[in-house]
Amino acid sequence: MASSTVCSSGKEAPSAVAVYCGASTVKKSIFPEKAAGLGRCLAGRGIKVVFGGSAFGLLGTLADAVLEGGGQLTGIIPEFFTRYDGYTAPGEEIIVPDMHTRKKLMYDSVEAFIALPGGVGTMEELTEMLTWYKLDLHQKPIGLLNVDSYYDHFIGWLSRAIEEGFITHEGSVDSLLVISEDPADLVEKLCSKWRDSRKLSEKQS
Ligand code: AMP
Repeated sequence: MASSTVCSSGKEAPSAVAVYCGASTVKKSIFPEKAAGLGRCLAGRGIKVVFGGSAFGLLGTLADAVLEGGGQLTGIIPEFFTRYDGYTAPGEEIIVPDMHTRKKLMYDSVEAFIALPGGVGTMEELTEMLTWYKLDLHQKPIGLLNVDSYYDHFIGWLSRAIEEGFITHEGSVDSLLVISEDPADLVEKLCSKWRDSRKLSEKQS
């Protein structure tokens, strides 16, 4: 049974969400602005944030916003990262032996996922959760914060892969991923999809 919280709108919401995002300092301010917006939004709704556990790049911006908003934050960090210069741990910190343990623990700790703009690390985390979703290993909704049209090419590629039959799926990209450029809108839609999939699994059990 999925665990839940009751968010400020009075509706049920997942108790914890994993957020994947870039660990580098980026050029445009819109990316950290939206990462902070997402952090405030999740904190305000009482949804715990599970993330990569460092203060670099958007990870740090997100973490600061969650903590400033009075939210709960857990960072899951492989031991070797803690030896990086400038490493600090915002929020609760869980140190694990390696990357695979981290990804599995993040996956096990949450009821939904959100990817913000990032590099190959973020893409790997996002596509792994999508792959497991497609393999029916989980029904946890996956959100994509498409800031400044950052993911337009990826969304286009997914659409082509569905069209060509490489991704066997009855619907469109929108039924695989919850997509929005606005943090509050994304969280609202993700929570709604989470409630729908919960109702469905309760009916089936
Ligand atoms: P990237 O998108 O390549 O910047 O990688 C970011 C993702 O990989 C994050 O969601 C983290 O889970 C992980 N990651 C990469 N670099 C770091 C780092 N220095 N500290 C913590 N997590 C990291």
